[in-house]
Amino acid sequence: MTAFPAGTILGYPRIGRRRELKRAVEAHWAGTLDEAALETTAADLRRATRERLAELGLGKDDSSIPESFSYYDQVLDAAVAVGALPDRFADVRESDGSIGLRAYFAAARGDSAHAPLEMTKWFDTNYHYLVPEIAPDTVFARSGDRFVRQVAEARAEGFTTRPVVVGPVTLLALAKPAEGAPDGFSPLDRLDDLLPVYVELLSALRAAGAEWVQLDEPALVSETLDTTSADLARAAERAYAVLGGATDRPQVLVASGYAQLSNESWRALAAAPIEAIAVDLTRGGVPEPLPGLQAKTLVGGVIEGRNIWRGDLERAWTTLERLGGLGAAGVAVGTSTSLQHVPHDVADEPDLDPRLASWLAFADQKVDQVAILARGLVTDRTQIENELNAATAALADRTAADGVRDGAVRPRAAALDATAFTRGPQEERDAAQEALGLPLLPTTTIGSFPQTGEIRRARAAHDRGELSAADYEDVLRLEITSVIGLQEELGLDVLVHGEPERNDMVQYFAENLDGFAVTRNGWVQSYGSRATRPSILWGDVSRPAPITVRWSQFAQDLSEKPVKGMLTGPVTILAWSFVRDDQPLATTANQVALALRDEIADLEAAGIRIIQVDEPALRELLPLKKSDQPAYLDWSVASFRLATAGADAATQVHTHLCYSEFGVVIDAISALDADVTSIEAARSRGEVIADIAESGFARGIGPGVYDIHSPRVPQVDEIVDLLEQAVAALPVRRVWVNPDCGLKTRAYPETVAALGNLVAAAERVREGR
Ligand code: GLN
Ligand code: ZN
Repeated sequence: MTAFPAGTILGYPRIGRRRELKRAVEAHWAGTLDEAALETTAADLRRATRERLAELGLGKDDSSIPESFSYYDQVLDAAVAVGALPDRFADVRESDGSIGLRAYFAAARGDSAHAPLEMTKWFDTNYHYLVPEIAPDTVFARSGDRFVRQVAEARAEGFTTRPVVVGPVTLLALAKPAEGAPDGFSPLDRLDDLLPVYVELLSALRAAGAEWVQLDEPALVSETLDTTSADLARAAERAYAVLGGATDRPQVLVASGYAQLSNESWRALAAAPIEAIAVDLTRGGVPEPLPGLQAKTLVGGVIEGRNIWRGDLERAWTTLERLGGLGAAGVAVGTSTSLQHVPHDVADEPDLDPRLASWLAFADQKVDQVAILARGLVTDRTQIENELNAATAALADRTAADGVRDGAVRPRAAALDATAFTRGPQEERDAAQEALGLPLLPTTTIGSFPQTGEIRRARAAHDRGELSAADYEDVLRLEITSVIGLQEELGLDVLVHGEPERNDMVQYFAENLDGFAVTRNGWVQSYGSRATRPSILWGDVSRPAPITVRWSQFAQDLSEKPVKGMLTGPVTILAWSFVRDDQPLATTANQVALALRDEIADLEAAGIRIIQVDEPALRELLPLKKSDQPAYLDWSVASFRLATAGADAATQVHTHLCYSEFGVVIDAISALDADVTSIEAARSRGEVIADIAESGFARGIGPGVYDIHSPRVPQVDEIVDLLEQAVAALPVRRVWVNPDCGLKTRAYPETVAALGNLVAAAERVREGR
């Protein structure tokens, strides 16, 4: 038995420093890279990762390097390993019944013959996992040996690494019942059938040379799943009695993360016959001492896996000492979660201000921090005194830096009173907005129009300095002119300018606000081959100049119809950036809100009569712990209201939300007090409409009638059906007609056809009234 290493990380980014994996899998999907070449690229990436982690101070042969590669998603990887794919993929399995890359990618992305697995957000992050579908008769059986092969591959290169696999409880707790499963069936009901397959997997990993395995069980922290904490803990108790009881296995580390383990689960794991438990100590305190711990190693997640700050090593050290007080056999230092949520390396950011860069830690710097603390643990504190002091000095430098606290921003926020958060009465606004002259069932879109290759190329050329600002802006004006013309032709009622000037709905604002920095290579996986480059919100936020006004004004001047001003809301700007950790999110959100409030005033002054403030991330940031939710909903709603409440009664404020789980946050959405809300609905129609109707939501509402995630063009009859369903359940004068989301990722031919059908459907439904 080898002891657990003194320091580790729970996972590492897998897309590659230059998104090598993205390019390789996309080439494979496009048919230009065959399977063997793809496998070679992936193996090269894994080798580079191991070597890099060893260079940064993790041990080559002590199981401290996690084997956390994935071609697409770690939940899908686990589902595939145990054969838990729905029957519809039977025809793309290999001839021996195993699940190869063909079935794997079919499940991930779908193809002409297969609908993909559903995708949804992983805990309260912007990473999306694939949702397994489990039926009462799903056959669990080992169906792929990637985990095992990777351990063997590492061994062949002289490494003893620690395979990372989503654990059985989390796999089932995140799954959904397959279509046709009887009412009341829960995937977790199948736990006992699944466990023997995990036992076999553990044995195979052992045979391949794994001394430790990491089973990820973050579901055990969450209070937002369908299963209660008590039931999750019972499942964990059962699962780890069986897995721990297996005779032929590596030692088992069960990792939580994303929040504090529930008390029930902490007790279940402490009592289980496993060898180590990893806990997130950045979101929640040191857990209670328990008798079962004497034989276990506790991995203290004191290095935050989700932000990019260098952080307070001194405090991390103190926390580890307190963890040591629980009486466990050993204490190791770890990250709070996998590092898949942060970019690779600050050293890849030559454009960042060096002072800002000195405050940051991306994945590689976090590994370095882990290695420092681990050295302290195996020797003593005096051996790392210098590093602790350097981290403390960097923190002090950050606190004192110009711009982190901006004397012009703070007094304004401090002087706000309740009136700043409240618009006038609804009736008054409704009456004033009559002047917009909109028909019954007004038609509109969510904001972006297709971002053509031409726009992207022009932007790239402009960024490289090869296209002048004037020429770039000519391209944008041409595009806006054509988008307005197209909408006029289609007969839409409320127009948009199409957002061609935006690379991304958050980064665009970050680039135009003070207090943000943007990165060059700071990519973070969002799902599959998709990555985003979150901006860094490091200082007090303010708006040096109007941002969107001239584009909106240019568009409005082209049409008699109202053109919507288009802004991204404070919560979404925070959610999709790396946000400062030195003050409450509420404080930061209000600073962003005040900048948007000024932008709205400028839009109004420029003649814009409808302004949409998008908040697609409102649901995403909902805390995993019920007790944290009311405070979150308070500040998030307040920041939206602060941004919008300065608008004149005659200005129609819209918002847009990008998910169909309307139910959980319905009261908050209502409290946003927007005049009109558009929401994703095309895929889960009945549910959303029923939720809205039941809740008594009394504002304008546009349940999406066109699923923009697919190139498929919805037919007029289909849209009419959806609209009839909406107007049967909701007051017709409140219903709007719009797609599910922006059209940025679509191509023009299908967009034109779909919007044409949308307008035709609205006309037909209007005729009947
Ligand atoms: N206005 C944005 C767009 O249309 C909204 C995008 C989103 O909700 N994710 O692209
Ligand atoms: Zn959306």
